[in-house]
Amino acid sequence: MIHVRSLASLVFVITMAAAAIAPAAAQTAPPGSLVHWPGEGIERCLVGDRAFAPTEIDGQSGCLVPVGLTRTGDIVAERDRDGGRERLSIGLGEYPYSVQRLTIKDQSRVDLSPENLARVQRENALIAKLWGRQGSSRFTLPLGPPLEKLPAGGRFGAKRIINGEPRSPHTGADYAVPQGTPVLAVDDAVVALTGEFFFSGNAVFLDHGNGLISMYFHLHEVFVEQGEEVSRGRLIGTVGSTGRSTGPHLHFGVRWQGARVDPSLLLGGSEKIPTVR
Ligand SMILES: [Zn+2]
Repeated sequence: MIHVRSLASLVFVITMAAAAIAPAAAQTAPPGSLVHWPGEGIERCLVGDRAFAPTEIDGQSGCLVPVGLTRTGDIVAERDRDGGRERLSIGLGEYPYSVQRLTIKDQSRVDLSPENLARVQRENALIAKLWGRQGSSRFTLPLGPPLEKLPAGGRFGAKRIINGEPRSPHTGADYAVPQGTPVLAVDDAVVALTGEFFFSGNAVFLDHGNGLISMYFHLHEVFVEQGEEVSRGRLIGTVGSTGRSTGPHLHFGVRWQGARVDPSLLLGGSEKIPTVR
């Protein structure tokens, strides 16, 4: 009896030691997705060079782990809890998104002149500063809709062939609605940036704190100013077709902890975001 018990505890010790050396990827997640790692009493979550506060989905607390669209390897997440550190490994799944062929009539918005290229680089540098912002959280999941009636849409992650040439994948969800349709803040935020950008047209970037930024592109009108505080559901602009666009639509995107993820995942409940244990 004693012999059996000690054998059982030996097996347990070996299993734990193996887990500490190389945590097996218990689950895979595709690029551009999120994984919820639930638990109470978490002090902070850590992924790559980011440390952030836990997030609740449908009232369940945990670490919301980003799996960026351009990610190329497995994700190792850690968290501090009850005076110890826990580790989770997530394998990177297959790229699941379709290919989209687009025709842009204005070829100067596809093959950039040196002036336009310099402009895009300036704009990208300005926008890139937003990904490092880390204020306290102002949002609750799921987020509110960016349009009062959200049509089917998306095409997040689609590999794009524009005028016959492969281009960067689509990093947001597109919703085709008429010009002038009201665009709403998905949650409480500070307006981090607004402006007229070469690709995005009239754009609003909202900082919801704790590393969540939401983006609204190709707007016809913009009703908010940088630095302004907005609340969930606030009218921030109207749908348009400014910048590089094939017609009136809202391009809605998010960055979570700097990573590009499918924004539609944050518009639904926990059923949209897989949970690991
Ligand atoms: Zn788009």
